[in-house]
Amino acid sequence: MYHQIGEPAPKGAPYRSLTVHPASFRRQMRWLRRFGYRGLSMRDIMPYVRGEKQGRVVGITFDDGYRNVYRNALPVLTENGFTATNYFVVNQLGGGNVWDYEKGISHSDLMSPEEMREWVRQGMEAGSHTLDHPYLPKLGDDQARAQISDSRQALEQLLGEPVTAFCYPYGGEEPRLRDMARDAGYENATTTAGGLARPDDDPYGLPRVTVARSTHLVRFLQKCMTRLEERRRSA
Ligand SMILES: [Zn+2]
Repeated sequence: MYHQIGEPAPKGAPYRSLTVHPASFRRQMRWLRRFGYRGLSMRDIMPYVRGEKQGRVVGITFDDGYRNVYRNALPVLTENGFTATNYFVVNQLGGGNVWDYEKGISHSDLMSPEEMREWVRQGMEAGSHTLDHPYLPKLGDDQARAQISDSRQALEQLLGEPVTAFCYPYGGEEPRLRDMARDAGYENATTTAGGLARPDDDPYGLPRVTVARSTHLVRFLQKCMTRLEERRRSA
């Protein structure tokens, strides 16, 4: 789970840790490849998660659809032959991370619809991160359903292809929201729960591993390659 790939915000800025330096990202992808791993989008990795396919694979996701991911990560992904999923906030395409401002997080541009289409044209996946990035558990059923379902329809209209990946903003999920994601036609949904996905996981509540600015290379490789099942069970 990545967010932004870019130069860091000034020291002391809130959530600065979620922006990974482009050179670190490039190193991380290269080392995955050297170890024989392939980075894959949610669409491409689901057969492995379900246990239908075997191989050395790592799912790569980006939250929020930042323009700096388009600029700094897309070339690295393609040069390594990897795919990845970016989760877009439909009403902020071409806008910014307005939901972050009240926390003091600085503005960062989000991809325009044209950039999102180019992201997809280069083999990457566009998933939904709702219309407005709300904390879904706080919303009533109708509002939550609109955020989950209408965002999928809007993205499909913009892209002209099925959208099957969903991501809960802030990792905010509960059983009724998982049901809504399934009913809306998604095939998988990711949370912010930490850990590696396993075949018996609910595909509408898949855990992820955070990669932060401070995650150094060895730890990154450990995080990607270590089976965390035992740890998760005992946690
Ligand atoms: Zn988000």
